Amino acid sequence: MGQIIAIANQKGGVGKTTTSINLSASLAVAEKRTLLVDLDPQSNASSGVGIADENIQYTTYQALLGQVETSQVVTTTGIEFLKVLPSTTDLIGAEIELIGEEDRETRLKKALNQIRNDFDYILIDCPPSLGLLTINALTAADSVLVPLQCEYYAMEGLSQLTRTIDLIQRQLNPALSLCGILLTMFDGRNNLSHQVSDEIRRHFSERVFKTVIPRNVRLSEAPSHGLPVLQYDISSRGAEAYLALARELIHTGE
Ligand code: ADP
Ligand code: MG
Repeated sequence: MGQIIAIANQKGGVGKTTTSINLSASLAVAEKRTLLVDLDPQSNASSGVGIADENIQYTTYQALLGQVETSQVVTTTGIEFLKVLPSTTDLIGAEIELIGEEDRETRLKKALNQIRNDFDYILIDCPPSLGLLTINALTAADSVLVPLQCEYYAMEGLSQLTRTIDLIQRQLNPALSLCGILLTMFDGRNNLSHQVSDEIRRHFSERVFKTVIPRNVRLSEAPSHGLPVLQYDISSRGAEAYLALARELIHTGE
């Protein structure tokens, strides 16, 4: 049964989507059957693996609303073991449309249960908020991976996220665990990056991934080509880092 990992942080621009795309692709090239779930109405995870809006037939939105079977939404990519549940801006409406529904927090869990056996890893790219979509992701997930940008205010949003995780554990998903904190956009020449990384490791010790994602221009260029970085430039430091993260994740799960 596939391990479900929500990639969440209510802050925007911390590397959630970049991590969702490139960790998924790296797991897939290790021949792990991987599903990338795009749960952000901005749909950058979908376009980042080459799924253009006009080629999307069914979306995560329709799976959440129970309009189609989840298997109908599963879409192939240019990487053999990587599949996607793509999204479009429709998903903006889902938060409002689900609000009156009794099972509004468990919609994604139900949708993913239909296809869970077909995958080893299911990664959910969350939107930059703690709204109903992120709550659905945390309710469906086995664990949560939190990307943190190595900058001054990195720790600030973390307490709010921790409170949300506690609340979800108490009310909706007692088994939810912390997969790990991932330091992103690390700049080795910048003292602040080192200070932030030291402080986070002091606080969270072994819950921080050993792998650190460096700031790397290839990671920011790859999405405009609709490619994960390992297809865009396999020799880049960004590609190396996400391949190392995939190995770390696979080994900790063994
Ligand atoms: P989020 O999904 O949390 O909003 P993104 O993954 O979209 O964040 O990243 C925000 C921006 O930073 C994007 O333009 C992305 O290309 C860029 N970016 C993310 N990670 C890196 C990195 N390690 N090095 C360079 N640019 C990065
Ligand atoms: Mg994003």
